[in-house]
Amino acid sequence: MHTTTEKEFGGTLGATCIPVFLPLTVLYLLCVCRSPVASVIQWPPVLPPTAQLWDPLAPVLILGWMALQSFFYLLPMGKLSEGMVLKDGSRLKYPINGFYALCITAVLLTLSLWLGMPLGYLFELLLPLAVCAIGVSFLLSLYLYICSFWAPHHALAQGGNTGNPLYDFFMGRELNPRIGSFDLKYFCELRPGLIGWVVINFGMLMKEVELRDSASLAMILVNGFQLLYVADALWNEEAVLTTMDIVHDGFGFMLVFGDLAWVPFTYSLQAAFLVVHPQSLSPLGATAIVTLNGAGYYIFRKSNSQKNQFRRDPTHPSVANLETIATATGKRLLVSGWWGLVRHPNYLGDLLMALAWSLPCGFNHLLPYFYVVYFTVLLIHREARDERHCRAKYGLAWDSYCRHVPYRIFPYIY
Ligand code: NDP
Repeated sequence: MHTTTEKEFGGTLGATCIPVFLPLTVLYLLCVCRSPVASVIQWPPVLPPTAQLWDPLAPVLILGWMALQSFFYLLPMGKLSEGMVLKDGSRLKYPINGFYALCITAVLLTLSLWLGMPLGYLFELLLPLAVCAIGVSFLLSLYLYICSFWAPHHALAQGGNTGNPLYDFFMGRELNPRIGSFDLKYFCELRPGLIGWVVINFGMLMKEVELRDSASLAMILVNGFQLLYVADALWNEEAVLTTMDIVHDGFGFMLVFGDLAWVPFTYSLQAAFLVVHPQSLSPLGATAIVTLNGAGYYIFRKSNSQKNQFRRDPTHPSVANLETIATATGKRLLVSGWWGLVRHPNYLGDLLMALAWSLPCGFNHLLPYFYVVYFTVLLIHREARDERHCRAKYGLAWDSYCRHVPYRIFPYIY
């Protein structure tokens, strides 16, 4: 049997502390963002009365939401696509219908507005919803951990099989856990959390309308930018099949919690912040922020599409003329075009967008910049992980690529 020997994320200590620390961080940030001072460094820290952490409506909404998105996943819409080749030589099939799920959700939201449902109430429910999403993450991770002992050995992930229960629970033992043809990791990666994030944002916008009769420009920009990001991810859903998360990582607490609790509740902090701390934005400021988001999106989309196209069909006219280097695996690496600028141009674009999402919240608080800071740390760590995998995969060819393209994310800086 394959046993993992190398540990990531601080090993057993990290795997023990992160599942405690990160859920508390989500709840803490939500409390801070709703407090009048909104200071992340306030002492003593803002703690909510326990009554604010629970609402019987919250589990109904979270479970109903998961069931609704599962139903959309199972609808026979869109095409079926094959994933990468697995250890046993087989390829799994995945439905590419996430964008349809987003569209149907948008129709249902419009309908609920028309029926007079108070979507702004999501603001009051943020804490109980986050508590339930965290609870669901723990339960699902436990289920996945237990079920993984029935999985065949070739279905186990490379990283989550040390034999240490805490570490393996955190990293995930099984690579592609499924119930029948329902792929749990693929479903969680882009559906409930990502679509949930934009629904929460919209709820914050409606709360602002309730409080101040109209939505502010800052709120509209944050909603618009993040909707573009989510719609783009779902439009290009097939690309997720080649990511580290799907191809390499097991499905354990790290990904489950990230997908179901961290993304929807911390990525929507800017919108929640704006409900309590309205900001005015000059037309010039707004234009500059829109331009920054546009530039980030352009770099992000173009670089991701270039690599995806190259990996799908290197003879395609849009990539055929790019300079490449050969590797011992038979795959080639791009050394010109976007991937000749830095080794992760897609991360650069993503970070520019992250900054553009925070700027509408002004400069008086640190909290709206939490996402940029966290995301920079995440992408630097992710880049290092990817680099290790690529060096192991491509050996000398990877070293040669690094010599050709010395900067990782920021040209001439890092
Ligand atoms: P990437 O899309 O950056 O893919 C990395 C892989 O690309 C490598 O493992 C290698 O795989 C291939 N590759 C690397 N360099 C080259 C090259 N020069 N030529 C050809 N292929 C190359 O991986 P991620 O999954 O990290 O990111 C995908 C997107 O998702 C990014 O835009 C990122 O910003 C975004 N993201 C967003 C997050 C969020 O929370 N908002 C979280 C994580 C990612 P191989 O050679 O095997 O094809």
